[in-house]
Amino acid sequence: MKQVHKRLLAWYETQGRHDLPWRNTDNMYHIYLSEIMLQQTQVNRVRDEYYPQFLEKFPSLEALAKAPQEKVLSAWSGLGYYSRARNLHKTAQIVQTALPKTQEELLKLPGIGRYTASAICSFGHEQAIPVVDTNIARVIKRYFALLEAKESRVWENARAFVNAQAPRAHNLALMDLGSLVCVPKNPKCAECPLEAECLGKTEAELYTQRKKTQYEALDLFYGICIQNGKIALELSTEKMYKDMLVLPRVEPIEEDFLTVFKHSYTKYRLQVYLYRLEEVREDVRWVELKNIKEAPISSLTQKALISLDLSE
Ligand code: SF4
Repeated sequence: MKQVHKRLLAWYETQGRHDLPWRNTDNMYHIYLSEIMLQQTQVNRVRDEYYPQFLEKFPSLEALAKAPQEKVLSAWSGLGYYSRARNLHKTAQIVQTALPKTQEELLKLPGIGRYTASAICSFGHEQAIPVVDTNIARVIKRYFALLEAKESRVWENARAFVNAQAPRAHNLALMDLGSLVCVPKNPKCAECPLEAECLGKTEAELYTQRKKTQYEALDLFYGICIQNGKIALELSTEKMYKDMLVLPRVEPIEEDFLTVFKHSYTKYRLQVYLYRLEEVREDVRWVELKNIKEAPISSLTQKALISLDLSE
């Protein structure tokens, strides 16, 4: 095992993604924030856009805890899966200044599951524990030839594989290996530091066969009402957009049709139709179009505004 660990770390030293800002800090809030953002969003978008912008607005846990939820949701706008932002905010309000240092305590906080808790403990505190995200799971399944293994089995094997001398670098190396070499299709086994011992390399793609996602097509109809440079938005009552501002739903009327666009959200493939709307409910929120970026709106609403040239 020592030799395998050594080879893996040597590979990480030269090939790993060392430029990611959350890998070059010991600020636990920064590490935690990056882990939450990375759950459903590509690394480059997090690194280049959302992570620095969010930290500029909320530079510390205290600042985040004090901020109104509306501002936090607005900073999350476009990232999707808004429960992540709500939970991040709740957690900041619970802990106020510092996150706990153990997995057990971290798991009690909103939105922190097994992966996030272990990532914070391993990457932030160098604890000798396994971290298993999608990329690492794929490497572990292939390396140990765990066909159709349950999640708990993958974690057990990852635990047995941890390098107790350098757990942080070990877990980051596995993560990068899964993302750069042991990729879902056509893994680059010839470049892999685990190749000699890997039990699954000859049929590597067997370990990544997935059930086909069942997509659901849906038509949605929204109204656009603008008065004096302000647009009418409603506080959403839908679970996925809770506490966010959305366009009012309307019944489609042909002569008021403006445009249509496609949008994807989790398993939904949406056709979004926009209609001119003259009258709105009394309780709508009028948001200045020039300040729309400050409002907690979803990427669907953003897209609607862009499709009508009402926003950048
Ligand atoms: S040898 Fe191939 S299948 Fe095995 S861990 Fe490396 S890249 Fe993945």
